[in-house]
Amino acid sequence: MGKPEILRSSVQPMVDRADLFRRLSAALPPDCLLYEREDLVPYECDGLSAHTQVPLAVALPENEQQVCEVLRICSQARVPVVARGAGTGLSGGAMPHEQGVTLALSKLKSILAIDPVARTARVQPGVRNLAISEAAAVHGLYYAPDPSSQIACSIGGNVAENSGGVHCLKYGLTGHNLLQLRVVTIDGELLEIGSEGLDAPGYDLLALMTGSEGLLGVVTEVTVKLLPKPVKAQVILAAFDSVVKAGEAVARIIAAGCIPAGLEMMDKLAIAAVEQFVHAGYPLDAEAILLCECDGTEEEVTVEIERVSEVMRASGATDIRLSRDDAERLKFWSGRKAAFPAVGRILPDYYCMDGTIPKKKLGEVLAGIAVLSKQFELTCPNVFHAGDGNLHPLIMFDANEGDQAQRAETFGARILELCIAAGGTITGEHGVGIEKIDQMCLQFGTGELASFLAVKHALDPHGLLNPGKAVPTLHRCAEFGAMHVHRGQETFPEIPRF
Ligand SMILES: Cc1cc2nc3c(=O)[nH]c(=O)nc-3n(C[C@H](O)[C@H](O)[C@H](O)COP(=O)(O)OP(=O)(O)OC[C@H]3O[C@@H](n4cnc5c(N)ncnc54)[C@H](O)[C@@H]3O)c2cc1C
Repeated sequence: MGKPEILRSSVQPMVDRADLFRRLSAALPPDCLLYEREDLVPYECDGLSAHTQVPLAVALPENEQQVCEVLRICSQARVPVVARGAGTGLSGGAMPHEQGVTLALSKLKSILAIDPVARTARVQPGVRNLAISEAAAVHGLYYAPDPSSQIACSIGGNVAENSGGVHCLKYGLTGHNLLQLRVVTIDGELLEIGSEGLDAPGYDLLALMTGSEGLLGVVTEVTVKLLPKPVKAQVILAAFDSVVKAGEAVARIIAAGCIPAGLEMMDKLAIAAVEQFVHAGYPLDAEAILLCECDGTEEEVTVEIERVSEVMRASGATDIRLSRDDAERLKFWSGRKAAFPAVGRILPDYYCMDGTIPKKKLGEVLAGIAVLSKQFELTCPNVFHAGDGNLHPLIMFDANEGDQAQRAETFGARILELCIAAGGTITGEHGVGIEKIDQMCLQFGTGELASFLAVKHALDPHGLLNPGKAVPTLHRCAEFGAMHVHRGQETFPEIPRF
């Protein structure tokens, strides 16, 4: 795959390495600064493993004060800093900078307080997503956003990516479940943003920081909302003989006023991959299945299950099964949750895309992906958060075979372009990182991009936090050939075109 722009970044450190390492070592406990190559290699990529880069050093602070110190030293030395949680990101957001320090937050993993009355949890950024629900369970509470990677991914990474999950249709993304953050700026200054209430005076910096992919500050503490565990949850497994019918059922369920706790779709290829792996009991003859979870009180669940089943039947479901107990509910979900590794067993590599489209366009876009699959001669199962219109095509390839890796990358780019053309967006939850940075030039006009860059400049004037990720420079868009031209007037004519 091509080297991303990050590797050609113009940010250059102003100090020599030995001096930088000496200053960082002095600010950190023993063994918390790594700079030997064999120690750095484990940090060379995140979940987008096609792109790798060994950093200059990895700093592993043990407290917030040390995070401030590391940032202050790097800022003074003009050294780029890439924050890293658990490294499960799928868009290359935590991929290191060759001239930079990777700031790994994995040692900040304490649950600082659970308040069962206010229903909040205050945690450090390296705490695993699932660990919050585990800690809150004694109070009958849980943290709702549940990325499929929740056993491993960190809450700091969730904030930086505004992560979603199966239950975000009803309960919202990470951003909808946050109350307060402590964030350290590139200069080592501590900001406390948000409030315990639903509103706070001043600009909504909480919203600005959510999904900022490590470009605006480093999150050192997170206060999240907790919810009471629903009394009951039940899953409907519905089979369809066409993807279009399953897509229509999704749109109709939402239009009927139901907001299920989860509404997920898998196509035939994904069903086959999953069944070989976890035997979740999915019908192998179906062209698509929907998994729909209803939760609430006994009465609420009964009513919603009836309404959803009715809509599914009217939309052409060929078979409808209802989980009979919690064990069967979890079995139904086990297939969906294991879909990525199931696909990973078939070919050595897969490329998980992430785009969002209006629900009414599901059938059309899936048909477009099938055409691209033939064109690029690469298999592409689809598994996705159907209720949110958030697609996850999984492009299967073997990087050791000819130009398959290159074809997979181009195929992925075309899928994102299909999403934009359908009125959607190039990311639903995985972020932009390095993966989708060129498509940002298609998604946004120069006005919006210039605003993003101005915000970045205000908080990080030397562009040291995660350079080369998430927001393309206008120069890059010109180079990509995708800068918006309005009424024949080229914007920024001084920027060279290639
Ligand atoms: C099998 C699998 C399934 C997945 N399923 C989902 C899913 O269902 N939904 C979903 O949304 N995602 C999913 N993901 C993607 C990934 O798990 C999420 O993006 C997650 O939020 C990343 O968290 P992390 O701790 O691993 O962050 P990292 O990968 O370490 O970092 C991600 C980004 O956050 C920044 N960052 C990390 N910590 C901080 C911090 N403290 N302060 C500032 N910036 C920071 C990094 O610089 C980087 O830009 C999946 C990944 C895998 C491998």
